[in-house]
Amino acid sequence: MTGSVDPFDVIVLGGGAAGSWAAFHAARTGANVAVIAKGLAGRAGATVSSGGRIAVCGETLVDELGLDADPTDSKEKFFRNILDGGSHLGDPFLARAVVDGVGAELRILQDEGVQFPVTPGGVGRGPGSSVRTPGPDLQRAINRLAVRAGVRFWEDFHAVELLRDDAGPSGVIGVDRNSGTVETIAAKAIVVATGGTSSNWLKRDTPEELAGDGQAMALRAGAELIDADFMQFLPCCVLHPQLWRGQQFTWRILGPQGGIHARLLNRHGERFMARWSPDKMEFASSDLVSLAVAAEITEGRGSPGGGVYLSWAHLPRALLNDVPLWHEQVRPGWNWQGYELQGLMDILFAEGAIEVAPVAHCSLGGIRIDGTGATRVGGLFACGEATGGLHGIDRLQGTALAQALVQGRASGLSAADHARGRASVSTGSYADARDRILAPLRREDGLTPHEVRERLVTLTDAVLGPRRIAAELDEALATVRDIRENALPRLACRTRDPRFNRDWSDALECDSASLAIEAMILSARSRAEPASDDLRWNGIVSLRDDGLAHERHLIGSETI
Ligand SMILES: Cc1cc2nc3c(=O)[nH]c(=O)nc-3n(C[C@H](O)[C@H](O)[C@H](O)COP(=O)(O)OP(=O)(O)OC[C@H]3O[C@@H](n4cnc5c(N)ncnc54)[C@H](O)[C@@H]3O)c2cc1C
Repeated sequence: MTGSVDPFDVIVLGGGAAGSWAAFHAARTGANVAVIAKGLAGRAGATVSSGGRIAVCGETLVDELGLDADPTDSKEKFFRNILDGGSHLGDPFLARAVVDGVGAELRILQDEGVQFPVTPGGVGRGPGSSVRTPGPDLQRAINRLAVRAGVRFWEDFHAVELLRDDAGPSGVIGVDRNSGTVETIAAKAIVVATGGTSSNWLKRDTPEELAGDGQAMALRAGAELIDADFMQFLPCCVLHPQLWRGQQFTWRILGPQGGIHARLLNRHGERFMARWSPDKMEFASSDLVSLAVAAEITEGRGSPGGGVYLSWAHLPRALLNDVPLWHEQVRPGWNWQGYELQGLMDILFAEGAIEVAPVAHCSLGGIRIDGTGATRVGGLFACGEATGGLHGIDRLQGTALAQALVQGRASGLSAADHARGRASVSTGSYADARDRILAPLRREDGLTPHEVRERLVTLTDAVLGPRRIAAELDEALATVRDIRENALPRLACRTRDPRFNRDWSDALECDSASLAIEAMILSARSRAEPASDDLRWNGIVSLRDDGLAHERHLIGSETI
């Protein structure tokens, strides 16, 4: 596709589950829709690498999908579980929408031939039921439906800034990586579905393109972020050996989440969970384990690689050897979800323990929306992991994909509706935006974008892990503001060829990521206030003339 003159009715930024599902629903109403994706749609982003578990209660499975499930696993329980899981910091309206809406979305996928084996709740799975279809299969089915509904895909397009005319958002400007040109794409309504912010962490299990571009674009356009600091960490992913870095198999299958009594030890061999949760020990909630592990590491009792030890040394080897004989998800030869893990098991058997640490997994805070997917900016909608407010401080397994589907539908339909009420879109040259985007490519001398990106990632990893300390956040806020003020204007690409120019992408990501990181630090700093033991508020960040501002909104006191 080349630069458009005629506006689309709807453009969706992001081609993961949420974005492509939004586009599918918008196109089904007859709207002219395009998905703009930074990578290849459906082959980049978190969805395609996900485990594909989708939370849905037994009542819905029986009533709406005709599947064999526990009907006493009711919608009401599912709703309560979502709110309890997030310590009641999530929005009940958004939670209700997921509970009531996910069945209809799964039904569309079921009619498309997607198989949904049912998994009841239980040890390590969290409460309630879920269905599971591998991430790549889910994404493929969604894309197939979107293409059939007439959605056009503009891939390898790095969206940078939203455009606006007198009537509101009017399109997007960004880099077509293929041609290396700066293009504008006009639209009557826009859906932001660019995923989370997790690639701003060094230790993560997510792909690299999730820098927070959508959150930054939305902020600049006048939308708000809610609880930007909320990030779900997986407590104990492999840190070392490097080959399996980020892998959660040992915790999820061979650890407490799999019902196996592995032990967490610090460098002194102490089972430190005894200090945090003497009753539950390693079976404590994920956020408490993440916090405990982070504390061991930051207080200097961690392993040389910067983690702690997960140990099976107290268990007979036969017990572990037998896991593939009974575990429904592990195949002989230690194959799990397509990973060949024999090498990791060899190390585990030889050494009895491996080094693990919390990794960033899924953004829980993000663009503030209502149940229709609307932000406070008319014509700008959002869905999926780019948004915040649904989960609260933690989330149940499978709810992120349920969210992507339900919010995808809502935002797609709302955007199509908005577009129908808008006659036209003004187009312009947007020379200033174009110059800003091209600046790092044109600059002769300056800072290497990759190095500044590394500084940002190192900073985030250090202060926005599971454990947040006020003084460190203050220092980090000053650092990120300094980077924004003094480093960004000096970014200079080392190579001038604009096509698939990694330096250029890094430079553009430095800009959006640094704004998203500043918002996260501001939010986290407010929550780290020693005086506030009442956590019953959401943190709202907006961009004002003098920079980012943070406010606390008591839960339920404000509508968008
Ligand atoms: C390893 C792993 C396993 C998981 N397993 C599960 C699970 O079993 N169940 C569950 O519920 N959740 C799971 N999650 C979380 C879940 O997968 C995600 O929350 C969900 O897929 C997010 O979907 P999304 O469409 O919002 O974003 P994504 O799928 O991340 O898609 C974002 C899209 O935006 C694009 N994009 C980003 N920036 C730009 C830009 N500037 N311009 C244009 N495009 C842009 C990306 O290229 C991508 O296409 C898992 C996550 C991971 C990492």
